[in-house]
Amino acid sequence: MRLSRAYFKTLREVPNEAEIPSHILLLRAGMIKKAAAGIYSYMPMGTRVIDKIQGIIREEMDAKGCQEIRTSVLQPGELWEESGRWSAYGPEMWRVEDRNGRGFCLGPTAEEVFTDIIRNDVTSYRQLPLQLYQFTDKFRDEARPRYGMMRSRDFIMKDNYSFDKDEEGLEISYREMFDAYNKVFTRCGLTFRPVEADNGAIGGSASHEFTALCEYGESEICYCDSCDMAKTVEKAECADAPASDEEMLPMEKVSTPGTKTIDEVAAFLGIDKTRTLKALLFTTYNEDGSEAGYVAAFIRGDRELNMTKLVNALGISEYMIEFADEEKMSAACGCVGGFTGPVGLHDCRIVVDSEIPGLRNLVAGACEEDCHIINMNYGRDYEADIVTDIKNLLEGDPCPVCGAPIKHARGVEVGQIFKLGTKYSEAMGAIYKDENQQDHPIVMGCYGIGVSRTFQAIIDMPENHDENGIIWPVSVAPYHAIITLMKPDDEVQANLAEDIYNKLWAAGVETVLDDRKERPGVKFKDADLIGIPIRITVGRDAADGRVEYKLRREADKISLTGEEAVAKAVELVNAEKHGPRR
Ligand code: ATP
Ligand code: MG
Repeated sequence: MRLSRAYFKTLREVPNEAEIPSHILLLRAGMIKKAAAGIYSYMPMGTRVIDKIQGIIREEMDAKGCQEIRTSVLQPGELWEESGRWSAYGPEMWRVEDRNGRGFCLGPTAEEVFTDIIRNDVTSYRQLPLQLYQFTDKFRDEARPRYGMMRSRDFIMKDNYSFDKDEEGLEISYREMFDAYNKVFTRCGLTFRPVEADNGAIGGSASHEFTALCEYGESEICYCDSCDMAKTVEKAECADAPASDEEMLPMEKVSTPGTKTIDEVAAFLGIDKTRTLKALLFTTYNEDGSEAGYVAAFIRGDRELNMTKLVNALGISEYMIEFADEEKMSAACGCVGGFTGPVGLHDCRIVVDSEIPGLRNLVAGACEEDCHIINMNYGRDYEADIVTDIKNLLEGDPCPVCGAPIKHARGVEVGQIFKLGTKYSEAMGAIYKDENQQDHPIVMGCYGIGVSRTFQAIIDMPENHDENGIIWPVSVAPYHAIITLMKPDDEVQANLAEDIYNKLWAAGVETVLDDRKERPGVKFKDADLIGIPIRITVGRDAADGRVEYKLRREADKISLTGEEAVAKAVELVNAEKHGPRR
């Protein structure tokens, strides 16, 4: 590809809309262009990177015997009615109607469609196991699209679905995909960690997320260096504090003027925050958006609430809950902003964290302005509708498996795998006959990779960018090499560059020739910005047949003959085109 004839545009300025380095760099390097909030187009270089990532995924899926298909982005609403998710999926689903008023959605995922595809054809145990996959755009009307490709409303996903006879078969398929995902993300140059995850709205019995570790990630994981425990914060159980053997003391109302926060009340009463009860107040909604009621959640004062755990305890989806409007809830349930406790609350569901019943003589709000109650005890003074673990496992808390201090890390979820079981096959009638002509529902798994999110996550790795731009691993780089031709009008230079260009392509090194009539500084800046792994500069020394060879990842420049530069580039590309050497 010759840049002088290419559609190629980089930006010097940092675009206003971009907040994190990877997003800024994708826009500045001209890899993507924004069409609307959370909707992007891929420019030529970006498209090549996406193709490389898809190529890696395709190789690893095919190596496991998966077959590629392609389904329509438009999915009939009836299929989602069958699984029960048409109403349950919530406002993230883009719904559309055809001219006859039939409901469709722009697929946010494709369990229903894949189950429908196989259900009439796969009827015998002889046809199982089976795995099908695809790359398609997925659509989710995210409440807060942000960070470019990280959370967009239209994104590229690889999704595959496994169909097995039984749980043992699913276990094998699941392990195969676990292995394939490790290979994919390693080959893409990510530093990542597979962690046990919550199944969320998709359902099923087990799940892992693959989290690329980076500073700006929206996911938080907990792990233990002493054992191999690694889970998302949503999934990690937090061990309860040991039950107290203190006597229950009589409840007493005390005046605590102006102490609205846990810190303030603990300081005012001169007690530790672990002796207090923290209230969090919510409104819940029905699937149709109408108000369902109020919820008060109580945790120990020093703990953090985990929303996913709370939502799971309530048996609702995340979109069906939000922090309550204090005034409205106060009128309905008797709570008082900053002074809410379980005694005195009415007309709301009370959820209490699992360790609270074991603790004694806590301080809680009195449901009265400027007042708290001391010595409040679960069971004697109040009860809850639900008692379960709703707290976060924090950094430094004891590991629930071995007791060592827990560590936290931030990251981006680039893939997730799920054991679905028979949720969809039972709902949609995907049944096979065994050796004895007995009917069984097919046992399913589903496996997703965010291709476009991976594209950006690669750049987010500290080793894959610097202040000058992107540093692509060879395996996913849009081109392997760039030849910077200093003076396109100089015949000797132009001829040498052309010769190297042809030899590199002939040897399988995908090469860009920067033959634009631009200042050398501009060309070097662009080459660094777009992150091509190898740069070969053809300048004054062309008269002696020599060029400058430099890797984007390293500072050193070396002088080589044209032939030597070609040989070196070929060697590097052959060593790293399937993935970084580690
Ligand atoms: P998240 O928790 O980040 O919203 P999810 O768990 O809902 O993601 P899945 O249903 O597991 O996502 O989808 C499979 C993969 O698709 C995810 O692992 C992620 O890499 C990618 N993905 C999901 N939502 C988005 C999005 N809005 N933008 C880009 N990629 C996404
Ligand atoms: Mg997920």
